[in-house]
Amino acid sequence: MSGFLEVQSTVVDVEEGDAAHRARREQGGQAWKAVWKARPPAPIVCVECRHPMYAKTSERGLRFFAHAPHAPDCEIARQGESEAHHLLKLELASAARKAGAHAESEVRAPDGSWRADVLASDPAGTWRMALEAQLSPITAAEIVERTERMDAHDVTCCWFSDRPRPPWLGAVPSVRLAAAEGGIAVAEGLVKFAGSAWEPAPQVPVADFLRWVFTCQVFPHLPRVRLRYPQRQLAQVWTALQYIAAEDAYLWREEERQRQAAEQRARFKEKAARRRADIDQRNAASRRAALGRAASAEADARRANLGPAGARFHDQLMRRPGVEQAVAHLAGSTTSP
Ligand SMILES: [Zn+2]
Repeated sequence: MSGFLEVQSTVVDVEEGDAAHRARREQGGQAWKAVWKARPPAPIVCVECRHPMYAKTSERGLRFFAHAPHAPDCEIARQGESEAHHLLKLELASAARKAGAHAESEVRAPDGSWRADVLASDPAGTWRMALEAQLSPITAAEIVERTERMDAHDVTCCWFSDRPRPPWLGAVPSVRLAAAEGGIAVAEGLVKFAGSAWEPAPQVPVADFLRWVFTCQVFPHLPRVRLRYPQRQLAQVWTALQYIAAEDAYLWREEERQRQAAEQRARFKEKAARRRADIDQRNAASRRAALGRAASAEADARRANLGPAGARFHDQLMRRPGVEQAVAHLAGSTTSP
């Protein structure tokens, strides 16, 4: 052969499963022994598509094979998808138990309208919450509809994905998970309010996140202030009450600041209008005074030019083109400033 180890299944071991799972575990176990800590490392390929594969372990030590990125569409890759989905469900159930809840896998609604990947519930039976592992593509509309169907039965819901950019993230209560030291962690969707914007919270193990959710320390929230965020804006996030209060306080301060600025602008405008009116008034008064002085000068001139020669001279003066218009304009402008 080529020296490649051919992998026929992604699964090596699972804690729960049917006969087919167990059969795959047999095969996988043999492959695992050949590659795990082998020196030199054994190159592994998918028996169907010949794409390279990696040997991996999950948070809880489950062993599996995964296609390297950019694998072609092949049956084993698709099966691997369902294995990844299965593993994530196991992780979520385990994290829910660690967070103090009961967790059951594959729970159906009494009327069959939904099926929860993991149904977490309060040991006292006061609440139920579906934990959905969503790795395959789904539209935002579809995920909203599925969430509403569970809501109708008083089952709240949180969606989880470890895909880099699930387009539905934030359309429903949801978080993105990422591998972290010591297990999987919430990498996106959990935020805190800092000063004037939302910021991503530090990564937390998924069990811690679930404990906060189950004990009402974090809630789904529709941010009203933008997210100062490296990735993208999210319509809905998870956050603590204190941060929702901080956003409220910020919005209140911002509103107050804008109201004060508007008031100040109105005061400036009023002051400017008063100054304009003052100037207009002073201008009108000085025009009236000038007209008065001109009229009395003219009367003096008439008195000084008594006699027919003086009257003729005056008539000539007044008949010069433009003089009447000028007098009329000056008179008119006193009545309409
Ligand atoms: Zn393949």
